[in-house]
Amino acid sequence: MIDKATLQENFAAVEARIVTACTRAGRRREDVTLIAVSKLHPAPLIRLAWELGQRHFGENYAQELRDKHQELAVCEGLQWHAIGAVQRKNAKYVASAASVFHALDRLEVAQALSTKRIGAPLACLVEINVAGEASKAGLNPAELPAFLAEARSLPQLDLIGLTAMPPPDEDPERSRSHFSALRQLAQRHHLSQLSMGTTFDFEVAIEEGATFIRVGTALFGPRV
Ligand SMILES: *Cc1c(COP(=O)(O)O)cnc(C)c1O
Repeated sequence: MIDKATLQENFAAVEARIVTACTRAGRRREDVTLIAVSKLHPAPLIRLAWELGQRHFGENYAQELRDKHQELAVCEGLQWHAIGAVQRKNAKYVASAASVFHALDRLEVAQALSTKRIGAPLACLVEINVAGEASKAGLNPAELPAFLAEARSLPQLDLIGLTAMPPPDEDPERSRSHFSALRQLAQRHHLSQLSMGTTFDFEVAIEEGATFIRVGTALFGPRV
């Protein structure tokens, strides 16, 4: 686990890159939310980041999210983003711990989340398989209209946007056309939020309209 000084430097470096990308794109910094992806990192490291002022954290695995949500319940203002696919039987953990779910792509999961959610509706983004990769999560763009029609009728879900995870590439410019396609798809369906961009391509994502970026490695170092 990295120490607090290193963590602070990492956050400052990422923040500077976000600001530069916003300026380049003519966007306001407050319109981009940095999600610190903390999957596989220990709760004490998340706590350090929270002490530095970070409030939004991303987790991939429902049970890990459940455990960290309990362990860090004292951290006021901390918001959890569930960013990985969830199985129907684990939907209850996401429904009770998360503020936002970024990986909605199955109706049975949508139904389970809506049933289990108590209080304010769960904000959800639909994951799109932007590059048409065979083994990847997410809907085909063509499947989106029918999916939205069903999911929007669920009382305890609030459909706010779309998520994409383009194929990894050494050149972040290769992600640009995927991000731009996601933005256009969201506009057509009146969805205002775009969750796109990781350590390797978040600046391109900001230029293409990301409202949530999901950054892990650049903040916390490599996962073990
Ligand atoms: C792990 C993960 C990230 C963070 O990736 P980094 O390369 O560590 O920034 C972002 N989004 C999703 C869906 C992830 O699973």
